[in-house]
Amino acid sequence: MDIALLGGRVIDGNGGPPLDDACLLVRGREILTVGPRATTAIPDGAITYDVSGRTVLPGLIDGHVHLRAYAGADRSDFYLWSQATFYEEQILHAARNARRALEAGVTTVRDAAGARLEVAIKHATDQQLLDGARVVVCGFVGMTGGHGDLFTPPAVDRRPYQTADGPDECRKLVRSYARDGVDWIKICTSGGVLSIGDESDWRNYTLDEVRTIVDEAHALGKRVAAHAHTLDGVRQALDGGVDSIEHGSSLDADLIRRMIDQGTWLCPTLSVSEQIHLSGAERGLPPAALHKNALVRASRTEAHRAAVAAGVRIFMGTDTSSILPFGRHAWELELLSTLLGVEPMRALQIATRDAATALGLGERTGVLAAGRWADILVVDGDPLADIRILQRPECIQAVFRDGRLLVDRGLRSARATLS
Ligand SMILES: [Zn+2]
Repeated sequence: MDIALLGGRVIDGNGGPPLDDACLLVRGREILTVGPRATTAIPDGAITYDVSGRTVLPGLIDGHVHLRAYAGADRSDFYLWSQATFYEEQILHAARNARRALEAGVTTVRDAAGARLEVAIKHATDQQLLDGARVVVCGFVGMTGGHGDLFTPPAVDRRPYQTADGPDECRKLVRSYARDGVDWIKICTSGGVLSIGDESDWRNYTLDEVRTIVDEAHALGKRVAAHAHTLDGVRQALDGGVDSIEHGSSLDADLIRRMIDQGTWLCPTLSVSEQIHLSGAERGLPPAALHKNALVRASRTEAHRAAVAAGVRIFMGTDTSSILPFGRHAWELELLSTLLGVEPMRALQIATRDAATALGLGERTGVLAAGRWADILVVDGDPLADIRILQRPECIQAVFRDGRLLVDRGLRSARATLS
């Protein structure tokens, strides 16, 4: 069945001027064509929607989330929930989170600390068992006592992620994730904010270990993301040849130049540090975590502004988890604008085309063009005039993933009969 979206203003993700009074045709999973309504022939029998006065844009991509997070009605304890909850039950929360992302206009997420649970959610949404955002999974490889390992209190025996120490164990864990079907590998090259008992400036992994992980991942067709808050952490990641820097809270001119030379992506995750700043104390986060977050906030705005000015490749990621609940992804676009001075059109590019390219899906999604997957938003209003409208659920009128209308807040009433 063909679908035609008629009369809307199309922002295609490439950053060029919008196309007014457009016609976007979808056939099956893919976009058939995008062009002026006046000159585009609509196939017989197509379901047509009148979207005049609305904006049509590519589905957003959140390149840094954690699906394995509490999704229920009340609040959970950030640290205890994963200890006190069966894995089987955590899967249900992850599925709900993938659905909630979709409802907020996010058609693809990259889970930044995944394992088999996240691969299961990926398969379930691809196979249409569940409606949710497409999931790109990073298999998490971390050292004993590293940032990831320390989300679990030291006295707890049941630890959700395997650790790997020394090049041989690291290589084996990468291989095991490849067997399980992950898309990326995630490592840490510095300590973190919410991990218990470390400091952000702890070294995570030796250069030998980082190089081994990157070597094995690349040999098996997987890109590598590195969590790094410090100058030394970013340097270690760049020396090791990773593909993306997550957070990148401290950068200097030398590191920025190296990121440009190596084509390394930066995923700023501005939302999570703002969220911890605004609500971390009330959520009961320990003073040490709040202190580490303050250090991140003190350095990252200047670092990211310099990276943007120099032309470092940037893609959207929020670090959405139970601290920053699913559904608020578009806040990051506002923060790109208010904190880093990014124009709305450029912010949309960072959240669509550039994110798709960073994730390795640049030929498939992120842009509204013939042959791409039909991941499409219909928005009530103009995000170029006010990027914040994307945070309002009532403005996200419709979300298509793979050509299927999965979120509909009024599009059906716009169904038109062609005369
Ligand atoms: Zn994260």
